[in-house]
Amino acid sequence: MTSSPNWIICEHCDSVYTAVPLAKGQVSRCVRCSAILGRGGQMSLQQLLALSISAAVLFIFANAFPVISISLQGLSNQATLWQSVEALAQGQISVIAAVAGLAIILAPMLQIILLCWLLVFALNKRAAPGFKACMRTLEHLRPWSMLEVCLLGILVAIIKLAGMLDVHPGLGLWALGMLTVLLILISGKGIRRLWDDLEGRIP
Ligand SMILES: [Zn+2]
Repeated sequence: MTSSPNWIICEHCDSVYTAVPLAKGQVSRCVRCSAILGRGGQMSLQQLLALSISAAVLFIFANAFPVISISLQGLSNQATLWQSVEALAQGQISVIAAVAGLAIILAPMLQIILLCWLLVFALNKRAAPGFKACMRTLEHLRPWSMLEVCLLGILVAIIKLAGMLDVHPGLGLWALGMLTVLLILISGKGIRRLWDDLEGRIP
């Protein structure tokens, strides 16, 4: 959705509409393709920054603590996200390790750093240095950040292995689950409001 104070363009079919103020809970939809154009009751900048900082803490938890632990006949093993990427790098499909590292570690980390960077400046009613590049990078990173795919994969692995081994989800997995939801909430339409909020101050 590209918007100016007076008009909104549907990002799916390019129809142009006049923007109307929405109350909390109200949703505006495209008449032609039913895509959501906007929602009322957006989060404040403070809330967005608080959620971004929470995401940063959760990201550290998701990477520092094991996401899965397996035990069999007294032997036990556990793996963090980084260790699982490392394990992929040692196998025959080491190219996949680079993609996995990008999708589940590098892209989410960059997203969180950029979000905090942009929001700290936006709270002081200023555009962060490199505002346009940061906002564009955030848009480009979204398809590469695949925490939800990783989360589903781990859950499937836990269910499949549960029949054969003693499998336990680790603290890292809970953090990963919450981080996935937070990143979807903040990095999507939530952050695009900065274009409107900082209009006239963007260099
Ligand atoms: Zn549309």
